[in-house]
Amino acid sequence: MSLPIVAVVGRPNVGKSTFVNRIAHADDAIVHEMRGVTRDRSYHNADWRGVHFTLIDTGGIEMGDDDAFQSSIRDQAFMAADEADVILFMVDGKTGITADDEEVARVLRKVDTPVFLLVNKMDNPSKMEENWEFYSLGLGDPRSISSTHGHGTGDLLDEVVAILRELPEREDEPAEEGINVAIIGRPNAGKSSLTNRLIGRDRSIVSDVAGTTRDAIDTRVEHDGKVYTIVDTAGLRRKSQIDEDVEYYSYVRAMRAIDRADVAILVMDATLGLTDQDQRVAGYANERGCALIILLNKRDVVESGDVLDGLREDVGDRMTFVNYAPVISISALTGKGVLRIWDAIDEVYANYSQTVSTSKLNNWLEGIRQFGHTVNKGKRTLKLKYMTQTHNQPPQFTIFCNHPDLVTDNYERFLENRLRKEFDFTGTPINLKFKRRD
Ligand code: GDP
Ligand code: GDP
Repeated sequence: MSLPIVAVVGRPNVGKSTFVNRIAHADDAIVHEMRGVTRDRSYHNADWRGVHFTLIDTGGIEMGDDDAFQSSIRDQAFMAADEADVILFMVDGKTGITADDEEVARVLRKVDTPVFLLVNKMDNPSKMEENWEFYSLGLGDPRSISSTHGHGTGDLLDEVVAILRELPEREDEPAEEGINVAIIGRPNAGKSSLTNRLIGRDRSIVSDVAGTTRDAIDTRVEHDGKVYTIVDTAGLRRKSQIDEDVEYYSYVRAMRAIDRADVAILVMDATLGLTDQDQRVAGYANERGCALIILLNKRDVVESGDVLDGLREDVGDRMTFVNYAPVISISALTGKGVLRIWDAIDEVYANYSQTVSTSKLNNWLEGIRQFGHTVNKGKRTLKLKYMTQTHNQPPQFTIFCNHPDLVTDNYERFLENRLRKEFDFTGTPINLKFKRRD
């Protein structure tokens, strides 16, 4: 049985990590090492009065420009609502309510998951009651605590574990096996229909109403003697949630599936064309370094081949950052083109996992030097010396050179394009690192 989950959310500096460090077992900082996710959230083992649970610290979100920051606060709250059994929403009793607090509260007021409002930094035990202003967040009684001194935390945990004790036992998610494939895309693009095709049976009831299928589910499948875990993100909101956020929520779900995927399959509805959300999730897959395949679905209802060609062009023009991804047109309804997806998965996964020998890489680098295109600044000229592959899944190459600071984005793109011409990296992002070597 997997452990119940308690998530701590709130803006930076309210004291989340201090709280988590007080409660969690000191010796195991991160129990889950999910690729790419650890930067934003850490998972800890904890127990109280004999109840074991996983504590998620959503601490280290990075301050970006205001918009990015707002949306990451929102993401945090949504993700917590999706995966946690209890949410601890922490605010700062010294600073009072901020606009960011209100933003998080707005999301949390609408979810079914139990939420505790923690007013932290109430260090003076005799003034613990003075937290009235926080009632206005609309999340019930504010609970004063001091994470540094510990006041109020015991009573709070008593209440939290009382809820955890009442939870129905949950089934363990099946262990991931083989290649992890995430099916992502907008509501109604055809993700469930495609998943049913790939797993060879109807596992969900497909409906014409956007967002009526169930939660994301992992299914283990075998095809041609190989094992895959297909993660269908079609399903939406576990409990209550909010109609106007259906689209947004499918995006959050896609991000979470991408975080643990080897291969992401972006399903687009060819009758609608390319949408902003398609661009965003493709960008996220690229950033998180997973392999990508783009599907143009519903080709059976597209009147002519010209439409598909136009859409391919559009994808080429507006999603240049994933121009390595194969684009395949299919019909999940009739099954046309679906078999080709298996080959595509195997191909991009092989490219994503490959290791290129150092001698081949340095032969290639010699070619680049002879070609003579380099970067100059003042009296300095960039000289590439040698290179080696330092990671795979996805491939990462380290190039040793005299002045790493001279490398421009343009020059890096030039190198990436040349590498892609020489070696087969279809479907996978690649990373280049530059290190100084005199
Ligand atoms: P996070 O960004 O939300 O994880 O916040 P941190 O746990 O890193 O805490 C931010 C700052 O608040 C640190 O300087 C902590 O020492 C301080 N802090 C955390 N909890 C308390 C508390 O209960 N009382 C006081 N006075 N300071 C606290
Ligand atoms: P999801 O929300 O992305 O999982 O999309 P569904 O698989 O539930 O499909 C949404 C609607 O599109 C349903 O009515 C499907 O029958 C329909 N649909 C899915 N794939 C195709 C296709 O290839 N062709 C046509 N004509 N309809 C499709």
